[in-house]
Amino acid sequence: MSQDCIFCKIVSGEIPSKKIFENESILAFEDVNPVAPVHTLVVPKKHYDNILDISSSEAGLADLNQLMAALPKVAEELGVEESGFRLINNCGEEGGQTVMHIHFHLIGGRNLGPGLI
Ligand code: 5GP
Ligand code: ZN
Repeated sequence: MSQDCIFCKIVSGEIPSKKIFENESILAFEDVNPVAPVHTLVVPKKHYDNILDISSSEAGLADLNQLMAALPKVAEELGVEESGFRLINNCGEEGGQTVMHIHFHLIGGRNLGPGLI
């Protein structure tokens, strides 16, 4: 738990969220400001600042692996496993990261087109 981290507070329940999926290491919850009909954030419960932080230790890589392993269940829960979706990770200031607890945006529920931005 990192002090003053919004997503750590969502994980602990201090800040409420609409949960989509949860297991012992991963939480998926609805983005408060959705950009598409489906917009879910998938996070490790343990705090890592970003993708570089989580990828820099064996323990972090194990948590990242857990997150990827949860994806099929999250996609199924959201009903996008057949239609498809986009998975986005923003890293750092120029990457557009505003919450410094690593998260993946799972976006879908409409045709997103081929664009990256
Ligand atoms: P980033 O820009 O860091 O990749 O994405 C942060 C995301 O977190 C944004 O899409 C924003 O809408 C979402 N967000 C910020 N604060 C909260 C919150 O308190 N609850 C939820 N559910 N989402 C949040
Ligand atoms: Zn955190």
